[in-house]
Amino acid sequence: MAAPIPREWVGLQQFPAATQTKLHELLGKLKEENVSTLTILVMGKGGVGKSSTVNSIVGERVANVSAFQSEGLRPMMCSRTRAGFTLNIIDTPGLIEGGYINEQAVEIIKRFLLEKTIDVLLYVDRLDTYRMDTLDEQVIRAITNSLGKAIWRRTLVVLTHAQLSPPDGIDYNDFLARRSESLLRYIRSGAGIGKREYADFPLPIALAENSGRCKTNENGAKILPDGTPWIPNLMKEITIVVSNGSKSIHVDQKLIDGPNPNNRWKKYIPLILAVQVSFST
Ligand code: GDP
Ligand code: MG
Repeated sequence: MAAPIPREWVGLQQFPAATQTKLHELLGKLKEENVSTLTILVMGKGGVGKSSTVNSIVGERVANVSAFQSEGLRPMMCSRTRAGFTLNIIDTPGLIEGGYINEQAVEIIKRFLLEKTIDVLLYVDRLDTYRMDTLDEQVIRAITNSLGKAIWRRTLVVLTHAQLSPPDGIDYNDFLARRSESLLRYIRSGAGIGKREYADFPLPIALAENSGRCKTNENGAKILPDGTPWIPNLMKEITIVVSNGSKSIHVDQKLIDGPNPNNRWKKYIPLILAVQVSFST
């Protein structure tokens, strides 16, 4: 199937003039480095703000946002062009269901990504989550098994709900540092990143506040508690990941099958499902 011709990125014009200037500047820098297409994959648990973040970046309502369960199992790719530059952004369903990894969702995502090249993974979680558990590690392990450990060299961690007041009078920056540290510990452990490899996997963190009630500055740009306009900042962090010297991740069958030959049978899942469907009708 031929890729659809991407639409003009009209959402860009919704941003305040200062944000547009900044974004154009960043796109210009990428083009100088011969990057004219950027494919961003968005993953994380359900309800953390993945779809909202996609909409914030594109500046249009392209992904379904819901406060409740059931976002469906299918990933969604949105493509936009602007001045010779193409942005692809892939929203995915949450990987957890009933306390376990939803293997079917994982398989569907892998098939969707087949033959695509991922430039950046946005691993999304909430800033205002205080506890992490084995579920977080499972999600990270599922991503690692699906896309390979190298995907974490191409990752920007995004923390949503950034406009929070930390509990018990903790200072915002202390809270952010502690939250970041605990999340990074889980990512490193789930991805199998050893101490000696920390420098190879920088795992930068950017903040997002998707709420319509996000504070704005005098230009009308949505800002973080310290006054930083967060959308251009997030895009800047994305361009830093793109230029960090590591390779984009091309998703091919070998990568999806992984090093574990016991998983090879999984490529027959679509076939098994098709047979089931044909028998059930
Ligand atoms: P997803 O399941 O990860 O795609 O999460 P959604 O984008 O569908 O968001 C789940 C809920 O959280 C929705 O009610 C959103 O409006 C809300 N939400 C998402 N991001 C933020 C954020 O940064 N701040 C606040 N206050 N709410 C958010
Ligand atoms: Mg969603």
